[in-house]
This record gives sequence, structure tokens and C-alpha cells, in this order.
Amino acid sequence: MPRIIVQKFGGTSVGDTSRIRRAAARAVAAQKAGMQVVMVVSARGKKTDELVRLAGEFDIDPPARELDMLLATGEQESVALMAMAIREAGAEAVSLTGGQIGISTDDTYGKARIRAIKTDRLKEHLDAGRIVVAAGFQGVSESGDITTLGRGGSDLTAAALAAVLGAERCEIYTDVPGVFTVDPRIEPSARKLDCIGYDEMLELASLGAGVMHSRSIEFAGKYGVPVVVRSSLTDEPGTLIARAGSVPSRPVTGLALVRDAARVTLAGLPDRPGVMAEIFRRMADRAIPLDMVVQDLSVAGIAEVSFTVPQEDLAGALAAAKVAVDELDGAEVTVGTDLAKISAVGAGMPDRPGVAAKMFRTLAGIDCNVVLVTTSEIKVSCLIARDRADEAIRAVHAAFALDREESAGAGRDGNEPLSPAEQRVRTVVEGLQGMEDIVVADVSLDTDQARLSVRPVPDRPGVLADLFEAVAGGPDDDPSTGATVDMIVQNVSHAGHAAISFTVPASEAELAAQLAGAPAATWGEGEVQTDPHVAKLSVSGVGLRSHTGVGLKLFAALAEAQVNVQLIGTSEMRVSVVVAANEGERAVEAVREAFGIA
Ligand code: ADP
Ligand code: ASP
Ligand code: MG
Repeated sequence: MPRIIVQKFGGTSVGDTSRIRRAAARAVAAQKAGMQVVMVVSARGKKTDELVRLAGEFDIDPPARELDMLLATGEQESVALMAMAIREAGAEAVSLTGGQIGISTDDTYGKARIRAIKTDRLKEHLDAGRIVVAAGFQGVSESGDITTLGRGGSDLTAAALAAVLGAERCEIYTDVPGVFTVDPRIEPSARKLDCIGYDEMLELASLGAGVMHSRSIEFAGKYGVPVVVRSSLTDEPGTLIARAGSVPSRPVTGLALVRDAARVTLAGLPDRPGVMAEIFRRMADRAIPLDMVVQDLSVAGIAEVSFTVPQEDLAGALAAAKVAVDELDGAEVTVGTDLAKISAVGAGMPDRPGVAAKMFRTLAGIDCNVVLVTTSEIKVSCLIARDRADEAIRAVHAAFALDREESAGAGRDGNEPLSPAEQRVRTVVEGLQGMEDIVVADVSLDTDQARLSVRPVPDRPGVLADLFEAVAGGPDDDPSTGATVDMIVQNVSHAGHAAISFTVPASEAELAAQLAGAPAATWGEGEVQTDPHVAKLSVSGVGLRSHTGVGLKLFAALAEAQVNVQLIGTSEMRVSVVVAANEGERAVEAVREAFGIA
């Protein structure tokens, strides 16, 4: 078997002729070392932005098909130049467009999904001793139109080619020496990570760490391709993204920021099955990805749901929300703009309670108010005012001492036996029709949970910190005195009052209620309600949140089974809902059936 390597070069790494030559030299060196080499190349420098701007001169909303036709030219220019540079360096090369590589996609222009890749042509060139220079970011739809995979999509091309070719490694050459604890442009003391697991990287990328396209990590994780992110300008070793070897010793691995979030809240909703499904359906119809989805406990039969969308999707989301609430008497839609989402990610979180409390305390320390909160096993996300974002990132980075070196969990080389969960993903992957199909590996039910809701709480900095520090047993999160908080949900406030809900293991319900009672008592009418037995249903898999269809399918199945949803929490790898204890079994059966899981 020939050894294959995929090397991807981003825009700045092919920005001018000397950089193109440098990239070509890397590929030639790898070939000389005995590898078959596939290069994936992006458009030069800011070319794609320039083309977008140019299109805007004619039409503020250019036809998607024509825009894809235009944007794909950026990569076409780069591959031809790269092939010439390789010839100049004395090796054989051939440049290929997305279509010529054999990448077929669906026809969602601008964010097309890869259906299949035919590799015969590619392999012929490789076997003939040529370096294949593949255009990133593009494919061809069934009808023969050129499509693009979404901004930053060359990473996806690279990961996909590495997967189908069974490449030994996928190298991502960029303008930073690896994956850092946070974007080094925001926090100069950010530290480079030597290695990071797919799960953590997927969360980071999908929560805003722009260094890698999140769908490329989804791909690499699904197919188990080791990815190395490194600088195209130096020979530093970079960051290895692979299956995590062990749970990291630190609770937080990295931070991510999304600067352009907008909030949409649907209030006055009837608290009955089917409402969430209706909302998700309207959003999915317009391919609007919902980000932080927050539903808190209903009051007097009236429910409320909030979610965030990219600012650019706000108009579409509002139109869809209007359609959804028009049928529901008394429901209304409100929005919040100029918001940012800051997230902390770490596979070590489940073993270290108090991470959320520490993040809340840090934000309170800079007097930064938190609008919405969502959590999953390995992340905490807070929605805050955009103009506080940089300051907040720096404060949280310092609070978790992310600039300081710590022995990281060693990466695995891929030869160890798969865990049961990984085995399930592998089985599902083998049965995929299209390469980017949704992978739902498991639907599970945890009937051993209790839900606590604290309301009303004043809407000011420090409240979340007081509450969760108390529940965690104090600021130093001593696990022997505190309760283990699982999901945290905070919805938007009304008239200065907010509500916060969270879950803990049922055995810790009483303790948690007692601990939460202390700060609640200081908030005047603040009251803790406990439901000692609820069921938490989780759909887990890969890249769930970015597939608009997952939420829709989940909520449609629950509605069909007449199960009411109390709380919702979402992440890239898991969507969880809390339902009444006696509805758990019915819910899990319906959802398993919907996702075709035995
Ligand atoms: P390319 O054109 O090579 O694909 P990108 O601009 O897409 O490069 O990605 C590299 C940039 O990602 C860096 O310049 C950096 O500012 C940004 N970035 C965001 N988050 C991180 C992070 N956690 N680690 C490293 N870089 C990051
Ligand atoms: N050229 C495309 C972009 O700028 C794809 C990429 O660079 O990954 O988004
Ligand atoms: Mg990129």
C-alpha cells in the first residue's frame, strides 16, 4: 500500500509567489521521502473576500449559483499556479478542480454537503508519480453545477480526501503554528496545544475557533484521520488532532468566541408537545442553524424559548419565527443584537465541577452580564454584550491559567482498541450513504436526574456565580461538599428578573436545593423549586448541531409521542432534553425509532 499524505495550504500560505514556492517545496520533500502527495489549496490571500465584494457591486443578494461559480475561480487560480511551481521545483504535478477530483455534493449552493468522492482519477495520477494539486472548497452538484462548501471549506476538502484515500495524515498549513488555547489575535498570551482530541476540537471549532472548519473536524473524527495543524512559514511541529488518549488533567482546554450572535426569543408559547418541533421545522426550512437553544421551565402553562443565530441569518430567523408564532395566540417574538458568545471547552470538565461557577465568577468580576447560558458535558457557553467580548476572553483565559504549560493527555496513535462509543460511531459511518450524512450514534436515557429551578433571580452580574459557587460547595469546588451540576440553562430576563434551571444526580437533589437556597434567600423572592425525578434524554453523535435536521427530527418525534420538553441543552456532539420522569421511556423509544437506532 502506498503511503499517502494530504497537505492543505490556506490563503495566506499561498499569498504570493515565494509562498507558493515554499508550499511546493514541502510537497516535493514529502514525495522525495516516499509519500504519495495530495495538496489541497485555497484561494490566494483575501481573494475570496474580494470576489464576494465584487459580486456585491451588482447585487446585494447575488444569486447563489452564480456566486459559487465566481468564488470557485479563486481556488482554480491557485491550483494551476501551484502545479507550475511544483514543475519548476523538478517534480511532476497535475491540478484538478473539485469536479475533476470527483467530489459530488448536494445542490445547496454556498454551503453544499459532500455526497461522495470518486477517487479513481486521483489515484491514477498518484500512481503515475504526480503530486495532485486539488482545488479546495468546491464540488459539483448532481446537475453538474459548481458548488462551494462554505467559507473556510478547504479544510473540509482536505479532511474528506484524507478520509477516502486512507491517508496517513492530513496536514493543515496555516498562518499560526497550531491550535492555541484561544485565538492568539485576541489574547497574545494564548498557548499552543501539542495535541487535542477530536471532541474538544469539534466543540472549539463549532463554537467559533476559526483555525479549522468545524465540518472538517467532524469528518476527521468520523473517519479517524489524524490532523496536524502547523505553520507554513516555520518548521515547528504544530498541533496533533487525534483520538484523545486520556482525560486531560486541566478542566478547560481552550476558549472560543463568536462575535456576531443575535438572540431570538419566542415568548408566550403554549407549554405543550409540538411547539418546539414547529419552530425547528420553520428554521430548518430556511437552513438556519440554531445555536444556543434555551428553553426553561414553563410558568403557568406558558413556555418560552430562546436561541441564537448568526447575525446575518437574523432576518431569515425572524421571518421564520413569525410564521411559527402566528398560529399561536398571544405568542410574541423579541430579539437581541450586538451579542457575542464566549465558550470554554474541556474534556476534563465532567471530573471537575465548578468550571461553570468559575467562569461566571470571572465574568462577574469584570461586571459583565450574562444573557443566556447553555452547557454540555465538555463546554460552557455564555452570551454577553459584544463590546465586552475581548475583555471577557482575556479574563477567562487568565482565570483558568491557560497561558501556563501543563502536562497534556497524550494523543493516541489510532492503534488502540475503540471504546464502545467509538465503535458505534464506526459502525454508523460504515453504513453512511453520503459522506456528510448525520451520524447519530446513540440515544440514551438518564432517569437518575433531578431538576432544580431558581426564580426569580435578579438580572445582574454575579448572580450566576453566587448560585453555582454555592452549589459546587464553595469557590474551590471541593467535590466532597458540593453537588455535581450537569445541565445549566438560563433564559433571557424579563423586567430585570431571570430564571435559572439545572440538573444534578437525583441522589444529590436535596443537597443541591439546600446549597442553592442560601444565595436564593438573599434575592428577596428567589425560590428554589425541585423536581426530584426527571429524565434526561440525549442524542449523541457527531456534528449534530450544525445539521439543522437533527433538532427537527428529535422534536418532531417527541411531539408525535406527546412528550413535553422541559429543558433543552445543545452542543455539537449531543442534544439533551429534560422531560418528566414518567415520560422518559416513551420518549426514548420514539426518538430511537426516528433515528433508526435499535
Ligand atoms: P487559513 O487561510 O490558513 O485557512 P484561517 O484564517 O482560516 O487560515 O485560520 C487561521 C487563523 O485562525 C489564525 O490566524 C487565528 O487568528 C485564527 N484562530 C482562531 N482561533 C484560533 C485558535 N484557537 N488557535 C489558533 N488560531 C486561531
Ligand atoms: N477560499 C475559501 C474561503 O476563503 C475557502 C478556504 O480558504 O478554506 O473561505
Ligand atoms: Mg481556514
